[in-house]
Amino acid sequence: MTTSASNPAAEDATREVADRALPLVAIVGRPNVGKSTLFNRIVRRRQAIVQDEPGTTRDRNYGSTEWRGRAFDVVDTGGLLGEQLSGPYASSVADQVRTALAEADAVLFVVDVQAGVLPADEEIAAILREAAQPVYLCLNKADNDRLEQAGGEFFGLGVGEPYLISAHHGRRVGDLLDAVVEWLPAARAAESQAACRLAIVGRPNVGKSSLVNALLQNERMIVSATPGTTRDAIDTPLEFDGKRVELVDTAGMRRRGRVEPGVERASVRRATAGIGRGDVGAVVIDAAEGFTSQDQHVVQTVLEAYKGLVLVMNKMDLVEDEPGLRDSRARQLAGRARFVPWAPVVWTSALEGKNVEAVVRAALHAAEERRRRIPTARLNALLRRATLEHPPATVRGRPLKFFYATQSQVEPPTFVLFSNYPEEVHFSYERYLLRRIRQEFGFEGASLRLVLRSRSGADA
Ligand code: GDP
Ligand code: GDP
Repeated sequence: MTTSASNPAAEDATREVADRALPLVAIVGRPNVGKSTLFNRIVRRRQAIVQDEPGTTRDRNYGSTEWRGRAFDVVDTGGLLGEQLSGPYASSVADQVRTALAEADAVLFVVDVQAGVLPADEEIAAILREAAQPVYLCLNKADNDRLEQAGGEFFGLGVGEPYLISAHHGRRVGDLLDAVVEWLPAARAAESQAACRLAIVGRPNVGKSSLVNALLQNERMIVSATPGTTRDAIDTPLEFDGKRVELVDTAGMRRRGRVEPGVERASVRRATAGIGRGDVGAVVIDAAEGFTSQDQHVVQTVLEAYKGLVLVMNKMDLVEDEPGLRDSRARQLAGRARFVPWAPVVWTSALEGKNVEAVVRAALHAAEERRRRIPTARLNALLRRATLEHPPATVRGRPLKFFYATQSQVEPPTFVLFSNYPEEVHFSYERYLLRRIRQEFGFEGASLRLVLRSRSGADA
């Protein structure tokens, strides 16, 4: 077996894609499963049967396309190395897969449901299980409803989010692409734009505006553009520790002295305006008043949007003078916010500008955790352990089984679990699994999403 480093085609491919602006989706699989058919389907091109001319071969295997308004590149790695499969420098499928993993943002792993699992499929799966990228298991040649019942045996490969498709007929390829593009832009946006979009939220009078203004005045924050010059400049870009942070929805808060004291007319919706456009919600709490049920609603809204969460105990200057008060507030918070034990707590005094940069530091960390990706093999090792140590309840006398798990997405980290009775998994068991995931992998400050699916993979 040659390694990808000694394989000229692989090296070329890596170089070619290295400075691509668009996200790259790689199609891998053993020969004849339908990779090039899928490639052509995705780039909506009929591959002309042309003679190989030097320099044109590779172009045929790359294509740019867009789906639901999101542009991306596709590479058919089979075609890329295909010329060499029979030559003296025969490159193995393993090389092909490693080439794909070197640069791709997502991998489409194509198998043939009609042919069943072959050793080459297993060889590829073994490599992909260690991949950090999301893998979509394309159960191809599922041309009709009968064939759509097939595919169960591919679960043994333990890799990828399964999609029963027919590349030839175009069946369900749209569903597959929906899933792929759902997270693709985030992968590149994360590198090029803000490291964190921070929404400072909370009920009225807890000190949101004061916190924003304290951040803008903090000497460690560099305001990277003049805010408020246009009406729609509602966000404030900052730089902190060399990282770009955007304060979301700050237009109203930047104007100082525009405080409406005691006006509780703002609903929770208003209190959490901007959370949808943020990565992380910093929920500001008035430490003098303690954690109220209103605050709990605000936290809930952040969780429902699956954003990162930082709890900010503001006005700490008001609780420091009275002995024991700060401790009692901390205990109260730990009790009432015990449903989010993973959320960091930061104590600040916006009024005195104290410790406000810690909010940004915690938010940056949470945003980073939201981008983490756990390789399928590690996730499944944990799933096996967790279900062994604490087996799920039976369903009408039958064992509830989990076949495997895969992280299908980042931002938010989303874990798809395949089960024989996805609807019957108890809420408390979901919470148990999420707790185990956090124990093993961290994800501090990040809301996690758990999706249960049946093994057919046809239902979302
Ligand atoms: P590759 O070697 O993986 O690139 O596979 P190809 O795209 O060249 O396809 C191999 C064979 O499978 C060709 O004869 C295709 O027409 C056929 N094929 C591809 N997709 C489908 C499909 O969805 N259904 C069926 N029945 N055949 C397919
Ligand atoms: P918002 O409605 O959440 O934006 O709250 P504001 O920033 O307008 O603050 C409401 C009131 O709390 C104002 O009178 C602020 O001066 C006061 N305030 C804000 N932060 C602090 C703080 O850290 N300590 C104290 N003592 N007062 C604060």
